[in-house]
Amino acid sequence: MLVSLIVPCYNEESALPFLYEALTKVLDECSRYEYELIFVNDGSRDKTLAVLRDMAEKDGRIHYLSFSRNFGKEAAMYAGLSAAKGDWIGLLDADMQDPPSLLPQMFTLLESGDFDVVATRRVSRKGEPPIRSFFARRFYRMINKFTDVEIVDGARDFRVMKREVVDAILSLGERQRFSKGIFAWVGFRTKWLEYENIERVAGETKWSFWKLFLYAIEGVVSFTTAPLRIATVVGFLTSLGAFIYLLYYFIHAIINRIWDKVAGYPSLLSFMLFLGGMILMALGIIGEYLAKTYIEVKNRPLYVIAEDNKKDDKQ
Ligand code: UDP
Ligand code: MG
Repeated sequence: MLVSLIVPCYNEESALPFLYEALTKVLDECSRYEYELIFVNDGSRDKTLAVLRDMAEKDGRIHYLSFSRNFGKEAAMYAGLSAAKGDWIGLLDADMQDPPSLLPQMFTLLESGDFDVVATRRVSRKGEPPIRSFFARRFYRMINKFTDVEIVDGARDFRVMKREVVDAILSLGERQRFSKGIFAWVGFRTKWLEYENIERVAGETKWSFWKLFLYAIEGVVSFTTAPLRIATVVGFLTSLGAFIYLLYYFIHAIINRIWDKVAGYPSLLSFMLFLGGMILMALGIIGEYLAKTYIEVKNRPLYVIAEDNKKDDKQ
């Protein structure tokens, strides 16, 4: 049986040697399977590609793909999944935050036949800036409320899946991919393993706060159209409020005989600003979805491969 392990790499020259060492240890330990190691170089600016070439020369199990520029981790994972030939397919980060030492246990669980996927989640966010943890938690709560897929808090992309699951994932043809949602959407019997957060072995994280914020919006917009409905509901409620206020104002004016045309300037202004804000927000939300549709319609490839050491042995 063939097991494919996919590692997306962006500027990971310093982490790769550690990872490779840890992986070979695991592979020796579980020598009942055959392996292919798929490294996807996502347009790194450091010597990642050179390191990969070197490794591939020494180890025939290594298949590396190199993108023509940085396309993001989602694209790298998709490229890896498309290239994988294994019966089981695993995904893990290059920085050892997804500990390879968990792999034997994951394989055993898959072998038991009770599960199609063994996935992992972090139970602590130790070593992460508190503000990032705070927003991450809010994000998971919100996305689970609004969407019909359940995304587990702290879920990592670190997982091992059977071929059927990967085929299902690849069959979702969207360009802008939010894997955590896609994994949840395809379903299958999933076993969750928990582990404490581990700090990356070398190099630095590629996630800035801004990138994470955009990623969160991406997640919501990819899996639910509920925000569009929020705009409708809020619009309806504001109009209702305005109507009731108008009614109240008329009755008030009739009873008290005040027909002053100038009074009420501040309240008028605040109403207008409030409404203006609402309208802009609604337009923004519509814009989000429109932009998404636009990008999907263009149907561009997810990535461009510049180099592939096993290009010729494709079936
Ligand atoms: N990564 C990638 N392309 C990117 C950003 C990240 O392939 O544009 C890879 C990176 O090399 C690593 C994994 O995705 O293997 C996770 O990235 P990182 O460790 O920076 O994220 P964090 O663990 O901080 O969430
Ligand atoms: Mg990391």
